[in-house]
Amino acid sequence: MINEQFYRQLKAQLDAKAVTLVAVSKTKPVADIRALYDLGQRDFGENYVQELVDKQAALPEDIRWHFIGHLQTNKVKFIAPFVHLIQSVDSTRVLDEIAKQAEKNRRTIRCLLQVHIAQEETKFGFLPNELPDIKMSANTGVMIDGLMGMASNTNDEALVRQEFQLLCELAEQRGNRVLSFGMSNDYKLAIECGSTMVRIGSLLFGNR
Ligand SMILES: *Cc1c(COP(=O)(O)O)cnc(C)c1O
Repeated sequence: MINEQFYRQLKAQLDAKAVTLVAVSKTKPVADIRALYDLGQRDFGENYVQELVDKQAALPEDIRWHFIGHLQTNKVKFIAPFVHLIQSVDSTRVLDEIAKQAEKNRRTIRCLLQVHIAQEETKFGFLPNELPDIKMSANTGVMIDGLMGMASNTNDEALVRQEFQLLCELAEQRGNRVLSFGMSNDYKLAIECGSTMVRIGSLLFGNR
């Protein structure tokens, strides 16, 4: 079951600020994605390669699929033919593989570098001082459009704000345009802090 009323309100609010909404549909059935699609939503985010591949085959061609989970190098090939944006690039190894698969598929694959901004060690991503200095170009088949991050899972708003601001500063230094941060529990703060893309799951699709 999707929350139609919330979707309409959220979408209007984000459109007014030119913030992209990625509807995070991991673990949710194809019917729910279809329902949101029928309301006009086109950007969807998934965390697991096999699940994404299955859903892509079952749903309309014009959906823009965002990969947002930890991506293993040996699985890049399965999503390379169609993925719209890989948001969770967290190693130069996976980046090299994306470049290879992009060439094989004769397409440019857009990517975000995931930055580890949270306190939790379980999260993935480059450390801020280890971010590769690459502004990869179309001739490698990979285009780095910006940065993605997940703030600490905490009620400490000041800490979350600090983590979001760090992402913004890094993006500015690098000249990146796309900043993907903000989830169901912190998207309002994220927009206030300059996010250009929020990834929202449970508020749209219900708890997982
Ligand atoms: C699951 C997930 C989300 C969405 O989380 P919600 O709290 O359900 O909005 C966003 N980003 C990433 C990377 C996720 O794994």
